[in-house]
Amino acid sequence: MTQRKQIIAGNWKMNGTLSETANLINGLKQKIKSDTLRRNVILCPPFTSLILARELTKGTPFKLGAQNVHFEGKGAFTGEVSAEMLKETGCEYVIIGHSERRAYFHEDDALINKKVKKALGTELQVIMCVGETLEQREKGITNDVVRTQTDGSLHNVSEKELEKIIIAYEPVWAIGTGKTATPDQANEVHEYIRSLISDSYSPAAAERLIIQYGGSVKADNAGELLSMSHIDGALVGGSSLKADDFAGIVLA
Ligand code: PEP
Repeated sequence: MTQRKQIIAGNWKMNGTLSETANLINGLKQKIKSDTLRRNVILCPPFTSLILARELTKGTPFKLGAQNVHFEGKGAFTGEVSAEMLKETGCEYVIIGHSERRAYFHEDDALINKKVKKALGTELQVIMCVGETLEQREKGITNDVVRTQTDGSLHNVSEKELEKIIIAYEPVWAIGTGKTATPDQANEVHEYIRSLISDSYSPAAAERLIIQYGGSVKADNAGELLSMSHIDGALVGGSSLKADDFAGIVLA
């Protein structure tokens, strides 16, 4: 039997002014109490809210994550933010390779791999996203896509480093669309990802790996998804923006 503790992460995307950040975190503090919490919770607000979020989450079970990072430590990279800067704001996690970064900012597996290596070298834990488009699913190449993304993004990542990585399986067709993968569809891909890790690392590494599902997770479908044997948590977009909705998922 696995001992993986489930992790729910909220990806706020480009949402959250300072006052919205304060309202949301204060609402979550009312609804989610550490003494009854069975899952770990990570909040990923925009960069500009991280310092406020750090102050507001002191003494709570909530950890902080960022939504992106650059692969260099500093320099002439206008508009970018380094892993060192994120550490300073109290971040422990960073989301890398989200499908929106892949699609709108043309991030490929080689770039994602550089970011992953940099984050790990700066002692940030990584939520690394993979997932197929609808067209790829319909062509029957979901596993091939997920394998290429996983292998490419984890290039030269050691088994020790892998302990600091969460993989988020996020079928692109389910993100922000209201269409959720069925629990069986998601579990099948999660099991496949675990088998990839078992083959390229070890069965023990695969057993330890946290694999989150992401794609229109809501309070009313979270329970069923999170009861699947290979689903170890959720990466939540839209439903992480309202305290009631996100708390409903965390406590599902
Ligand atoms: C996401 O952006 O990671 C995501 C899963 O979004 P949503 O929950 O809105 O589908």
